[in-house]
Amino acid sequence: MKVLVINCGSSSLKYQLIDSDTENVLAKGLCERIGIDGRLVYQKAGLDKEITEAPMPTHKEAIQMVLDALTNEKTGAIKSLSEVEAIGHRVVHGGEKFASSTLINDDVIKAVEECNELAPLHNPANLIGIRVCAELMPGVPQVAVFDTAFHQTMPPKAFLYGLPLKYYKDYKVRRYGFHGTSHSFVSKRAVEFLGLDKDNSKVIVCHLGNGSSISAVVNGKCIDTTMGLTPLEGMIMGTRSGNIDPAIMEYVAKKENLDIKGIMNVLNKKSGLFGLSGDLSSDLRDLESAAGEGNENAKHALEVLAYDVAKFVGGYVAAMNGVDAIVFTAGIGENSGTVRKMVVQYFGYLGITLDEEANNTRGEEIVISTPDSKVKVAVIPTNEELAICRDTVALVK
Ligand code: AMP
Repeated sequence: MKVLVINCGSSSLKYQLIDSDTENVLAKGLCERIGIDGRLVYQKAGLDKEITEAPMPTHKEAIQMVLDALTNEKTGAIKSLSEVEAIGHRVVHGGEKFASSTLINDDVIKAVEECNELAPLHNPANLIGIRVCAELMPGVPQVAVFDTAFHQTMPPKAFLYGLPLKYYKDYKVRRYGFHGTSHSFVSKRAVEFLGLDKDNSKVIVCHLGNGSSISAVVNGKCIDTTMGLTPLEGMIMGTRSGNIDPAIMEYVAKKENLDIKGIMNVLNKKSGLFGLSGDLSSDLRDLESAAGEGNENAKHALEVLAYDVAKFVGGYVAAMNGVDAIVFTAGIGENSGTVRKMVVQYFGYLGITLDEEANNTRGEEIVISTPDSKVKVAVIPTNEELAICRDTVALVK
């Protein structure tokens, strides 16, 4: 079955056409600057990227351009749109309504709309993608795969905040967690790859990218995660602060004459590795090279990142009363041997020693702890699009 996977952002859209039988990507790319000017990147498997600048006033023109590229006579991956048998959408927030992926119908659209307030930048864009696909490809089944769904198994002690209960009851203020598709995919794969017993396993997934989150997974079910009501909570990220003393907000607002919007902008876009490095960069590669050249701010940013990971992992080991495997994934987790080494140095108390040679390998599933380590540490590349494709096929078949 050929499945179109769509991840709609407010001014961008990522897509992949996947053959679910072979799980090969037939074509992929993205639309950028939707509503501004417009740029389509299209790449058929085995061919070079094609870049087309063309006006995309709305997501409708953007998706139409993707469909035209996919069916282009010369470089298209399919002959006709009728070959697309299902569409899988990434939807950021499913609130408490969705604990798993679901076939999209009018009721689902309404329920996703009700979660808009919880993800005002993302959910409306996801819904536009769903509506435009329904218009341009009528009759093709669509599936919503939620970033929050995997974390819905968290118990109240993990998802409740120490706030007036009314905020949870009336406004649904609670920890939801994000990156769920990645945590689910990687934790399942870890159990297979490391030969663990799926019904008796304790796995910690460290999804370290521009956005970062960690989750604790017992017997395939998430019991805790670092991100919260929004993706701002938890560990330090590229530009997000992660956890801080909430009183800092009032203190800095007064000093810098900022309103709540201004403060949120600082916490989401000007903090994290970027802010801590003295506005040097949010990109870990830049920080690694700056630290290598002796930049103290960059060094501190890397140290805070590794220390944060070590502390959350330690907390989850306590919460699960043990751990069988700790897994790194996403841009930093998969590629930065330096960060992994800095993190694993904290794990001596777990009987873990780093296999330095394995840790220097990139781009593949690999165990990076030595064979005599008491807990396995591994790198497992994430693949959210494939996870969306798999869920889509399971619901459509
Ligand atoms: P993601 O959000 O998962 O795409 O991850 C983005 C982050 O991964 C950025 O901070 C990148 O600097 C980092 N990253 C990507 N490739 C590498 C690499 N080869 N070495 C170190 N960090 C990398």
